[in-house]
Parts: sequence; structure tokens; C-alpha cells
Amino acid sequence: LPEPELRVLEAADVGRRWRMPGPDDDKYTQGVTGIAAGSSTYPGAAVLACGSAVRATSGMVRYAGWAADEVRSRWPEVVATGSVEDAGRVQAWVVGPGLGTGQAGRDVLAAVFDDGVPTCVDADGISLLAKYPELWDRRDPDAAVVLTPHDREFARLGEPLGVELGPDRVAAARALAARTNSVVLLKGNATVVADQDGRVLVNPARSSWLATAGSGDVLTGLVGSLLAAGEDPLFAAACASWVHVRAGELAADGAPISAADVLGTIPAAVREAVLAA
Ligand code: AMP
Ligand code: MG
Repeated sequence: LPEPELRVLEAADVGRRWRMPGPDDDKYTQGVTGIAAGSSTYPGAAVLACGSAVRATSGMVRYAGWAADEVRSRWPEVVATGSVEDAGRVQAWVVGPGLGTGQAGRDVLAAVFDDGVPTCVDADGISLLAKYPELWDRRDPDAAVVLTPHDREFARLGEPLGVELGPDRVAAARALAARTNSVVLLKGNATVVADQDGRVLVNPARSSWLATAGSGDVLTGLVGSLLAAGEDPLFAAACASWVHVRAGELAADGAPISAADVLGTIPAAVREAVLAA
């Protein structure tokens, strides 16, 4: 991908990059994903983000937050604790879904940034960055950040930074990526992913059935798994989007779905990508 360039992502791109376990791998080399999400009001966001990370990875998922009981009872595979500090080592963090936008959420995001590993910031995590811009100073500039805003979150984060979401979504994603030294995955009916160097990957695939509560939390867990597996952050975000949309299409098959249904078809979507490569 020569830079700066725009490319359309295809199944084979995803399949070639998907981290397959080899004979010398173990759960740690496959990638340990940390999920810092959920609250007593929104435990479901934690359950969904953990579930997609569980489905996407053959490594390990660690959870830190207020929904540890719900996560444990739904996903026995997940190692769940109450705080980021107690979670143990992870190779990447997902932070934000259902976290709330108050002081407690602020402290969670700060603790995640202190860990200095690649991090996907979504949902309330994005709102927290807009509300407490000093949080950016806690970030290790050498650790990749992937931001996954929908339009309203983009506007909230971009406004104080002087970045507008106009009709040119590629330009907008590039501008916010450059301004924040991050990868920006701009959601919508077609997904644009841009990095700080101006590289852009577009996922033209779409499933309008994904316009349902919790859908974004499933995407976030996928991004985290790919980051934990060591994938380049631009491709981690774009490949996650591809699997998310394809899993949505497979789950929906022309009829309504819930976000939890999308979890079940993640493995089939990955298989398609791997076979296409
Ligand atoms: P969130 O708003 O965080 O739950 O994320 C919603 C997810 O659904 C994103 O991955 C969007 O790209 C996708 N999505 C939402 N609305 C549509 C739509 N009308 N067509 C296609 N995808 C959509
Ligand atoms: Mg969301």
C-alpha cells in the first residue's frame, strides 16, 4: 500500500492477514485482548465486546470493569477482574463501550493509556476524550490508537479539534487521524479507515441490519483481537470491519438480527476470508 493511497478492502486481504495458530503457538503468542467496558447501567456492552473478542481469537480475553459477573456467566473463557490495574498483561486494549462518561470512566481510560499497548477507543471512550482532552497526554505516543466513531461521536471529538465531518468522509477520517495521531474507523453505510500518514482503506460492504443496538460493541472486540495479534492498526481496523459486516450478512440472511446474533457468525465470516486468500 504506497502512501498516501486509498484502497478498497477485499476478502482476500482479510484472509491473508488473519492470524492463524501454528504448531508453536500458545494462547499468549496468539494474542491477549483486554476489554475495559461496561457499567452497572450498560453491562451488555461488555458482554458483547468480550464475546466478539472470544469468537475472533484463539488466544485469550481479559475483562476489567463493573460487569465482571455478567461477563463471567456469559463467557467462561474470559478472565474477568474489577480493574485495569488487576487485569494482568494484555497485548491490546479495547476501551469505552458502555463505560459511562463520568469521572470513573475517565479513570479507566487513563489506566488503559498508562499501559502503553495498542488500544481501540470506542463509544463512551471517544466521548471521554472529547470531555477530558487532557487524557490525550496520558497516551504513549508510540502505542497505536484506533478510534471507531459513528457520525455523532466523530462530531463530538472533532469539534474541539477543528475537524469537521463534511460530505467527504475520506477527507474527514484522514483529517481526524492526522490531528489525533491515530487510526480512525468512520462507521456508517460503508466504512472508511484512515491512518495518520493518509493511508485509507475503504470497506464498501454494508449490511443495514447492523443498524441495531450493540452492533458497534461487536466491531470493537474484533478490532481489539486483531491489534492483540499484532496486526498493523490500519489493517486491524479495516479487517475487523470486513468480518463484522460479513458476519452481519450471514446472521441476517434477509431478516432482523440482534447484535448478539452477529457473534455467532464471526467464525464463518473469518473462514470465508481465509478461503478467499
Ligand atoms: P454503533 O453505532 O456503534 O452501534 O455501530 C453501528 C455499526 O453498524 C457500525 O459498524 C456501522 O457501520 C453499522 N451500521 C449502522 N448503520 C448502518 C447502515 N445503515 N448500513 C450499514 N451499516 C450500518
Ligand atoms: Mg457504538
